[in-house]
Amino acid sequence: THFGFTNVRLADKQRLVDDVFHKVASRYDLMNDLMSVGLHRAWKDALVSMLRPPWHRPFRHLDVAGGTGDVAFRVSDAGGPQTKVTVLDINGDMLAVGRDRAAARRNKGEIEFVQGNAESLPFPDGSFDAYTIAFGIRNVPRIELALAEAYRVLRRGGRFLCLEFSRVDVPVLDAIYDAYSFNVIPAMGRVVTGDGEPYRYLVESIRKFPNARVFAGMIEKAGFARVTARPMTGGIVALHSGWKI
Ligand code: SAM
Repeated sequence: THFGFTNVRLADKQRLVDDVFHKVASRYDLMNDLMSVGLHRAWKDALVSMLRPPWHRPFRHLDVAGGTGDVAFRVSDAGGPQTKVTVLDINGDMLAVGRDRAAARRNKGEIEFVQGNAESLPFPDGSFDAYTIAFGIRNVPRIELALAEAYRVLRRGGRFLCLEFSRVDVPVLDAIYDAYSFNVIPAMGRVVTGDGEPYRYLVESIRKFPNARVFAGMIEKAGFARVTARPMTGGIVALHSGWKI
C-alpha cells in the first residue's frame, strides 16, 4: 500500500506500536473523542454493561492494553467496594496519563496500573474474574499468544470481552467510513499532535485485523466457550465475548 507499515516484521511491529502511543499519549483522550466523534464512550459503556461487575462480592478485573484507564474507570464505577481493577499496558506514557486521571477522580476505587505485555501477562493462572481489552488486541503482534494468556489468567467461569474495530458492511456507510479513515483521521492527527503518521498506522491496523467471524474462531481456538460477536454502529466496532468454562 502507500503507507509505510504494511510489511513490518513481527518483531518490529511492537516497536512501531510503542512509538505511536509514546507520541500520542498526552493527546490520546482528546484524539479519541475527536476521531470517534465521542462514539468510543458509548462503545465502552456497552462493553462494561455486558460485564455487570457485582456490587456485593469481590471481583478482580483485568483490563489489558488499558492505556489511559477509560475502561478501568467504568468497571470501577459500575462495580462495588470489593471490585479491584488492574490496568495493564505495555506503554509507560499511556499508564502515566491513566495514573494522573485516577488520582484526580472522585471515586478512587481500587485501581492498580501495571506495565506489561499482553503476550506474557505477569499474573498467576486463574487470577481474574474478568478480562477486557478495548481497541488493544489489533496492536498486539501475536494475537494468539494474547488470547492464550487471557485464558490462562482467568478463573474457571471467568469472562473474556474484547472491543475492537471491525468491518463496516453497510452500503454507503462503508464508503463514508473509508473516506473518513484514510483522509480525515490522519489530517486530524497532524493538526492535533503534529504528526499524521501514527494515525495512518492506526487506520491501517484496523484494515488488517480479521473480520468478526474469523476473530470469533480465534477466540474459540484459545479455549473459550459460548463465543459471540456483536457488531455495533454498522460494524465499525465489534464486541466479542467468551467464557472460560
Ligand atoms: N484501551 C484503551 C482505550 O480503549 O482507550 C487504549 C487503547 S489504545 C488504542 C491501544 C493500547 O494498546 C495502547 O495504550 C498501547 O500501549 C497498548 N498496547 C500495544 N501493544 C501492547 C501489548 N503488546 N501489550 C499490552 N498493551 C499493548
